[in-house]
Amino acid sequence: MLINILQKSDVSLTENEIKSEMGDLYDRITFYRTVQTLLEAGIIHRITVDNITVKYALNHLDQEHSGNHIHFFCRVCHSVTCLEDVPMPEYSTPKDYTVEECEVLMKGVCEVCKTGRHVRS
Ligand SMILES: [Zn+2]
Ligand SMILES: [Zn+2]
Repeated sequence: MLINILQKSDVSLTENEIKSEMGDLYDRITFYRTVQTLLEAGIIHRITVDNITVKYALNHLDQEHSGNHIHFFCRVCHSVTCLEDVPMPEYSTPKDYTVEECEVLMKGVCEVCKTGRHVRS
């Protein structure tokens, strides 16, 4: 069900947004367990917007590095969009640093808020 909800949405969702979609079926413990399972299986990914906002989005398995892409946070509508078509910059680290995760979150005004259009081209 969680996957269905994320599939229907073209932007990533917070727990609260998922919760309101689920209605009475929402259960906090089950939610976290499911999220953990889906994260470990590489089916969804998590986007940390700030200390209090975490969003979830579906991985697109047809894309090789779907787990690693840029996210765009809109300060007007607070949506987070996966920019899977934007190449992820390669960062080099000093010799003995091992990178395990790298998140890039851009902030600004999204396409919908700027143009009023609701379809990503
Ligand atoms: Zn927006
Ligand atoms: Zn994403």
